[in-house]
Amino acid sequence: SISIAHRPASVRPSPSIAAKALVTKLRAEGRRIIDLTVGEPDFVTPRSIMDAAQAAMRAGDTHYTASNGTKSLRQAAANKLMRENGLSYTPDDIVIGSGAKQLIQTALAATLNPGDEVIVPAPYWVSYPDLATLSDGVPVVVACTEEAGFKLLPSQIEAAITSRTKWLVLNSPNNPSGAVYSIAELTALGEVLARHPQVLVMTDEIYEHFIYDGERAISFGRAVPALLERTLTINGVSKAYAMTGWRIGYAAGPRVLAQAMTSLLSQSTTCPSSISQAAALSALSGDQTFVVEARRAYQTRRDRAVSLLDAIPGIACRRPEGAFYAYPNVAGLIGRRTPDGTWIESDLDLSQLLLREGGVSVMDGTSYGLSPYLRVSFATSLETIETGCAAIARVVATLD
Ligand code: PLP
Repeated sequence: SISIAHRPASVRPSPSIAAKALVTKLRAEGRRIIDLTVGEPDFVTPRSIMDAAQAAMRAGDTHYTASNGTKSLRQAAANKLMRENGLSYTPDDIVIGSGAKQLIQTALAATLNPGDEVIVPAPYWVSYPDLATLSDGVPVVVACTEEAGFKLLPSQIEAAITSRTKWLVLNSPNNPSGAVYSIAELTALGEVLARHPQVLVMTDEIYEHFIYDGERAISFGRAVPALLERTLTINGVSKAYAMTGWRIGYAAGPRVLAQAMTSLLSQSTTCPSSISQAAALSALSGDQTFVVEARRAYQTRRDRAVSLLDAIPGIACRRPEGAFYAYPNVAGLIGRRTPDGTWIESDLDLSQLLLREGGVSVMDGTSYGLSPYLRVSFATSLETIETGCAAIARVVATLD
């Protein structure tokens, strides 16, 4: 038999990808499943972006590019970072990758020595701790409470930093909580970080456009310019332009880091798809109406999802300021009993019950490092949100 090495054994398969696979399997078996696990926009990639991809193919852009991406796309990313985030980078400080996730993995691989620590505030996007482990790092999870708006406090980061700390990972707007850090909150974190020069900051801003109620995102590098020489800004086109399948992300940071990441990428994927890079260039430099319309649609969906969830007895749903997930507190349902007499001991038990009895798929908070919560995606139609929340309410009403 084949003996598998320690690396794959040390990572958990992504729970959200597993949930999607389960929905697909159940549907293939003929079950009707309402899917509220989706981590991607349900919109079609804008036509103009598709046209740019087709034009690139016809023009012969079908070959390898530089390992850090085409100069024109890196320039477009630099222009975008200046225009929208007030950050000054040259194309040489920018690396294009096959998705933001690849760049996060590559940045960790380029910097972690065995035992180096990566501070990950919880609730977190499921991949950060596993990507740290995959590069022989040690994830240090810090729980951010609902009372603190699911945000890291300066005292918490001060307590978590050790001489082995290599990175702090920030994700605002946050997947799964929707939390958005204000400029004052980022500045306060920056004051602590300034005292610990060994700590790099990875700021994942992939949901930056999805902020509601007229608020705006502030980039960490803009809020704390003093730390720019140890900040890596991560972003991508997946969420903003409904381009998850095109696999293009970008990272901007210190040039030595960009160079180290580029060498690793040159020995993995060589370069991202040339056609997808042409599409991403059009996304970043073209008309931005799509993003505005998507934000408007998500705000309506958020309001509907939050009010339906919050109305269910035993569920308390805070209104997320950003991203496209609700993270309702289900403490009121833990310790309750199902009609067949089994106890609900965790949010994982609850999510499995909802799938089994209600035909509705949601993520459990356990997967995101903070319980007891559910993650309910509203990157889907109002109709799906309504039928999904009704199914949750129906199952909850059967509990003792
Ligand atoms: N960062 C966060 C916080 C995410 O939620 C996701 C996708 O779910 C990603 C990064 C991955 O983005 P990409 O498609 O660019 O790899």
